[in-house]
Parts: sequence; structure tokens; C-alpha cells
Amino acid sequence: MHTMRQDGGSVKDYKLVNIYQGRLNKDDELISSLVNLLKDKNIYLAKIEGIGAVSSACLGYFDVHSKKYREIKLDENMEIVSLLGNVSLKDGNIFTHIHVVLSREDFSIIGGHLFSPTIVYAFEYQVFHFEGDELIRIYDEDTGLFLWSR
Ligand code: ZN
Repeated sequence: MHTMRQDGGSVKDYKLVNIYQGRLNKDDELISSLVNLLKDKNIYLAKIEGIGAVSSACLGYFDVHSKKYREIKLDENMEIVSLLGNVSLKDGNIFTHIHVVLSREDFSIIGGHLFSPTIVYAFEYQVFHFEGDELIRIYDEDTGLFLWSR
């Protein structure tokens, strides 16, 4: 049985400043290229969306028992069916948290938490830049994850 709580987490409100739309180049490393763009524009609060294709990817699954990510490296061409992420701060640095759904040659789907290195074949994205209170990731004992502080 899982314990249930109803204290509703936490919420803050933000204003949309700008939307950047662009693409990455073939052979770019996806996450570090996005982080460089965010650093260039001093964006540390944002939502990221994207579609495209990769020539390899590194995915993670968070094992709640060991409280560690299991990682797999996929060396194959896949479609990025959907990529969603957010941008906040961890240890004073811009930090992206990105999840992805990929489709393989046989049209099956695989997905998870996105790690580096993930190599772009083609990638089209939108970055929704917000303004408001900083979101800072701190270690959460309950989950073993770095979550947004309240
Ligand atoms: Zn994740």
C-alpha cells in the first residue's frame, strides 16, 4: 500500500517573457547545446519542447529502490516523437530536466529521462522563457531526487 497525502505540493506563478524557436544541427549533443543556448540568453526559468530525430540517445529510469538512475545507451537512429523539459537552477547553474519519447525503426516506442550524450540528427525546438521566482533544485530525502524547493 502507498501512503496517500493531500497537501497539494507547491505552486508559483510565472509570466511568459518570450518564445525562442530554433533548431540544432546534425551531430550536436542535444542537452549541452540547449544549455549553451540558455546560458547565452540568460534563461534559467523555462519550458522546452521539441521534435526531430537522433542518431543515438542515453535514457534513464529512476529506480526508487536503489534511488539511482538505470541508464541505457541506444546507438540507433530514432524519431523524437516528443521531448518535454523544464529549466531551473541547481547549485547556482542552469539545469535542464528533460524527458523524451523516441520511436525506433519498427515503430515501437521507448522513452525516459534524457541524459547526455544524445546525438542530434535533426531537432526543432521551442523554449518558453518565464519570469518569476527562481526555482532551485535541492536534494529531497523522500524521493532521492533533486526537486524544486518550496
Ligand atoms: Zn526525469
